[in-house]
Amino acid sequence: MNAYAETALINLEPTISKIEKLLEENTEASVTYAALECRLAIERICYERLRLAHDYISHDDLRKWQPSDIVKTLIQEVDAKAAETFTLSIAREPMPEGSPAPTRGDYEAMEWLPVGTQVGFAPNKLGKLWNGLAKLALHIEIPTSKDATVKQYGDTQAIASKVKQALAEIKRISEGTLMSTGMGEEVSFECVCGSKNKRRLELLKDGQTINCINPDCDESYDYVQSDLSFGRRTFEIVCRACGTSRDIPKRMVEKLRTDHHIHFDCEGCGETIYVSWRPMQAQRTEPPLKD
Ligand SMILES: [Zn+2]
Ligand SMILES: [Zn+2]
Repeated sequence: MNAYAETALINLEPTISKIEKLLEENTEASVTYAALECRLAIERICYERLRLAHDYISHDDLRKWQPSDIVKTLIQEVDAKAAETFTLSIAREPMPEGSPAPTRGDYEAMEWLPVGTQVGFAPNKLGKLWNGLAKLALHIEIPTSKDATVKQYGDTQAIASKVKQALAEIKRISEGTLMSTGMGEEVSFECVCGSKNKRRLELLKDGQTINCINPDCDESYDYVQSDLSFGRRTFEIVCRACGTSRDIPKRMVEKLRTDHHIHFDCEGCGETIYVSWRPMQAQRTEPPLKD
């Protein structure tokens, strides 16, 4: 088992007291600002979990960007317990080397020292609060007729009530003393760029595409479950002048915009080779296109 935990990473206390003070002021402007502080705190809670998980997931593997969606992706791909409450403890005495596998009774007889508690949350609930705060405080009502007035702020009471709900949740989460990147068997491989990519075995699916965690690297790999291997995804480019072939990362081509091109010099003859997307036409009367 590989477990790794970091302790008390975000200090939400100053934010909490700031929000409380703004609520006490109870003006249109102060509750609006309190709502914004709540939203930023929710983002910090979610993004800090993402930062911790970055050894296990590439930036490009995140398809949705709302804070709650990011946490949901982490639960699916990095750590099923990313948003759960649990306490991590370690045994006071390390197991002597070469000792037989401990039984349940051995574990129960050991003395355990708590390392810290991760306080969990429901990503959906946090996402709803984040959206609700914006709806009430960060936008004003659209006038439905010429007689309607365009206000400067949203409804103070409604905003304050939503801020209080969010504050209660932020306070609860702030009581955690630890954030864990999870436990479980890991598989890893080294990308051609030299970066070590790690994944949790139980969350990997056969055929899944893994993007390298290095933000400057275009390499990606297909996971093959039968032999726990990762196959590099490439396109073979053959030079028309000298026949030298070269594999370029598939993701480099997939990311290419239709009005752009990639170019590089052939390693055999030095001629510049261009790669770009081009529409292709096929019709029923002709033999079908082959890949
Ligand atoms: Zn790489
Ligand atoms: Zn060439």
